[in-house]
Amino acid sequence: MTITQDDINEFIHRASELIKKSRHTIVLTGAGISTPSGIPDFRSPGTGLWTHYLPMDVASLSAFRYNPEQFYRWLHPLAVHMFSARPNPAHFALAELQAAGYISTIITQNIDGLHTRAGAIDVLEIHGTLNTLTCINCFHQVSSDGIIEEYIEHCTIPRCNSCGGILKPDVILYEEQLPIKTWTKAEEASRRCDLMLIAGTSLEVMPSAKLPIIAVDHGAHLIIINQTSTYMDVRADVIIQENVAEILPHISREVLNG
Ligand SMILES: [Zn+2]
Repeated sequence: MTITQDDINEFIHRASELIKKSRHTIVLTGAGISTPSGIPDFRSPGTGLWTHYLPMDVASLSAFRYNPEQFYRWLHPLAVHMFSARPNPAHFALAELQAAGYISTIITQNIDGLHTRAGAIDVLEIHGTLNTLTCINCFHQVSSDGIIEEYIEHCTIPRCNSCGGILKPDVILYEEQLPIKTWTKAEEASRRCDLMLIAGTSLEVMPSAKLPIIAVDHGAHLIIINQTSTYMDVRADVIIQENVAEILPHISREVLNG
């Protein structure tokens, strides 16, 4: 069966009604919300980021400790993309809905900080962030302001002011646990919500992909906006297989004006 524009309008309407009726909506986002901002999904094949490297050989904690130069060379194109990226209409639509009180927590698997730059608050970055770095020697944490610019310009390896050790971006590498406090908050929010809006994630990365199960098992409704199908589609109330940067602004307008 072909999905028509009328069908999509009906899905947008249903999603908006669910958001208006719910008392506690939370959001889960992934790479698909940032691809319209020009940031490649770095876990996907074909983006170039894995062409010359195997993930475990470069983006694991042990690889970082063994060969930080290689890690920083690998990260460089991604960091360049993220540094020049701007939030897109999907990020702004979520920030608007949040400011108007229709959604609370935004849980994201992205490390690009674009939700916050679009004005969102209460963002749980469960895969960490490029906004801070931590020394692998003395655990001193610093903001990446100034450091990232220097790295992007000259590909220099950031070093700790206190001890000279190598700074590691606070993003979660392979072999690393998710940040426990952030993860616990994400689980709690998933248990408490009565609606979860999933935007731009195929729910293929564990353990983040467990969060919708927690929500639905506790009685929450589910809206999924993603260009491909997900394993939770069977349990969703509304599924919109379209670009989030096109759909979310429509939903936001209908909720805020309707
Ligand atoms: Zn240090």
